[in-house]
Amino acid sequence: MELILKTHSKEETMELGEIVARHSFPSLIITLDGDLGAGKTTFVKGLASSLGIKEKVTSPTFNILKCYFVKPLPLYHIDAYRLDLGNKDIGLEEFIEGDGVCVIEWPNFIQEMILGDTLKISISSLGDDNRLIKLETSLDELKDLFFDLKEKYNG
Ligand code: ADP
Ligand code: MG
Repeated sequence: MELILKTHSKEETMELGEIVARHSFPSLIITLDGDLGAGKTTFVKGLASSLGIKEKVTSPTFNILKCYFVKPLPLYHIDAYRLDLGNKDIGLEEFIEGDGVCVIEWPNFIQEMILGDTLKISISSLGDDNRLIKLETSLDELKDLFFDLKEKYNG
């Protein structure tokens, strides 16, 4: 399945995150591609608020991994940007395909750790506050999500 949509404000990108959160399940991996400032962390903020996370979500660029242990679905937020070949052996596998949702910014840096199907989201700027967002997956569990998104964004 594949869907391309546009958002016109950070609030709209957060709302998309909230909708995705409602269809999330344990061991779901969401990969986020897009340049710096595209809106990857903004998307995660919406996702997190819908999962019941009260803590402020920031880009984990300097932390690599941030865990939010909420119930029923914890959130593991990985920013792989600073992981080069030398320092990857830090046990991220436990969180990827773990008991929660795992969101990975800059997935290309740890591609060999991401096995199996994912929800792949790519965000690019169209200038000002406009963003083009592409969602792709082959996960049957996300059929309802794509149905809802098509209704909402593509009429
Ligand atoms: P990234 O994590 O991809 O580097 P951030 O989410 O941290 O990007 O930052 C995105 C920036 O762009 C924020 O300052 C946000 O307010 C702004 N922005 C403007 N329009 C949008 C939009 N439609 N979607 C997401 N962010 C937007
Ligand atoms: Mg970020």
